[in-house]
Amino acid sequence: MNCSYCSKQIRPGTGTMYVSRIGAISYFCSSRCYTRQIELKRKLNPKEIRKSVAAVKQQKK
Ligand SMILES: [Zn+2]
Repeated sequence: MNCSYCSKQIRPGTGTMYVSRIGAISYFCSSRCYTRQIELKRKLNPKEIRKSVAAVKQQKK
């Protein structure tokens, strides 16, 4: 089992398991890796939402 962010090996009993709304499971060795991964997702998501909104608007036209 490796950390999803830094790909370090996580010892059993340590680290955190994060399950997203989609159902994808990711493991993090520390809260630092967890927050960084979530921050990255937050940075990426608005762009994706804008793209999808633009695509929907184009389809309606
Ligand atoms: Zn890590």
